[in-house]
Amino acid sequence: MSFSNAHFLSQIESLNDEKLQVFNFFWFRRDLRLDDNHGLFKALSSGKPVVPVFIFDSEILKHLREADRRVLFIWQQIQNLKSQLQEMGSDLLVFYGSPLQIFKQLFSQVQIQNIFCNHDYEPQAIARDLKISKLATDNNSDLKTFKDQVVFERSQILTESGRPYTVFTPYKKKWLSLCSNDQLGSFDGASFQKNFFPRKKKSPLISLSEMNFTPEAFDFSPAQVSKTLLSNYADHRNFPAQPATSQLGIHLRFGTVSVRQLVKQAQKVSDVWLSELIWREFFMQILFHYPQVVDQSFRSAYDRLPWRDQPAEFKKWTLGKTGYPLVDAGMRQLRETGWMHNRVRMVVGSFLTKHLFIHWLKGERFFADWLLDYDLSANNGNWQWVVGSGCDAAPYFRIFNPMTQIEKFDPQYAYIRRWVPEYQTPQYPEPMVDHVFARQRALENFKFLKGDV
Ligand SMILES: Cc1cc2nc3c(=O)[nH]c(=O)nc-3n(C[C@H](O)[C@H](O)[C@H](O)COP(=O)(O)OP(=O)(O)OC[C@H]3O[C@@H](n4cnc5c(N)ncnc54)[C@H](O)[C@@H]3O)c2cc1C
Repeated sequence: MSFSNAHFLSQIESLNDEKLQVFNFFWFRRDLRLDDNHGLFKALSSGKPVVPVFIFDSEILKHLREADRRVLFIWQQIQNLKSQLQEMGSDLLVFYGSPLQIFKQLFSQVQIQNIFCNHDYEPQAIARDLKISKLATDNNSDLKTFKDQVVFERSQILTESGRPYTVFTPYKKKWLSLCSNDQLGSFDGASFQKNFFPRKKKSPLISLSEMNFTPEAFDFSPAQVSKTLLSNYADHRNFPAQPATSQLGIHLRFGTVSVRQLVKQAQKVSDVWLSELIWREFFMQILFHYPQVVDQSFRSAYDRLPWRDQPAEFKKWTLGKTGYPLVDAGMRQLRETGWMHNRVRMVVGSFLTKHLFIHWLKGERFFADWLLDYDLSANNGNWQWVVGSGCDAAPYFRIFNPMTQIEKFDPQYAYIRRWVPEYQTPQYPEPMVDHVFARQRALENFKFLKGDV
């Protein structure tokens, strides 16, 4: 019997041991926390004992590198949740496999009244949830889903004519005008904790190696941001040598913080930081309404440009060996830490798509493999913003000069020295392309857009 089967059965057997007939399940996904979790709160207030579950989705995991630290991050959060639930006399059931197959097995062995979870807006997740919802209906049950990872979702913010916003500033204005305490109330499930199903036997947690992952130990950023950092955010956030941004991306991605609480914190201290949280929601609703952006330019004319297919040049970019120190510093920071400063993300993105004229999707996919805070909507939206192909994007003729960006944002060369110590020594490569030539080539190529933009 495979590990997953044996493990599955041992967890289900002990569920049935409890002699409780009907359960509600809560399915953790991008909301790995017990506090202020909307769907979990609704499950706990439902009156039936709640069985919390998490599924390591083999369909998603099979595309990731063995050393992927995001899997370590998730695994550690699952371990935390499991011990918190065990301390309360319950447990978290953890499965590995396809969610549809696992829920099929669960329905065949346990009486499930409903499955509760929170909304996910990515096209693949929506397709998955539709299948689970149908399975639930076929078993006289429901998949009950709730808004949790954003303040405003789907079509909650629309223009006067009922269309999704594709320009950020009016979207933000409407977002701010609609945001009140009603949207920011917290879902405090503490008084319902007794409603987690009681469990005497503790089940072990699947190990990373059993799922074929071997990431090295890593210190992730904490799931909180200080008032001082937020107070200085507007002035310091553009300087990559300074630790002036929250590094909360991975926590927002996997829901280890509540966005409602962060918005409340931002409202008190920093409008600029609040704007960033609103950008996040802006791109989420773009992805929801225009799922074709996953592999197409929002402005389709950009897909007809004469993009260059140059694997050797692309490789230099990925390795941080372009001969442009700010680009190289960013790519090395990304590979080593899984994070890159926002200003530098814009510079490396502009360099790839304009200096090298390589399609933005190649860069977007590379970031998807390496960023700890990778989020399809934000990554896609920002790449398209950088190249000019997105909604409300930077104009195509805005081509960052990767050297003058250093004068503005790293004038002491502190960031460059940290990541490219061999800069200005004979070991450092010559620029792989001349800036003036590359800029001119990009502008010539963009002429193909003609009246399309
Ligand atoms: C080419 C490119 C790719 C990007 N890919 C991603 C990505 O995959 N995931 C991601 O979360 N952000 C992405 N960003 C946006 C931004 O760079 C990161 O959110 C930010 O650098 C993360 O650092 P932080 O957590 O310290 O952010 P802070 O500056 O402290 O901001 C707080 C939070 O606001 C959100 N946020 C900030 N800026 C943006 C933005 N421009 N768009 C959407 N949300 C934002 C993030 O959730 C972030 O964690 C990308 C930007 C560019 C230019």
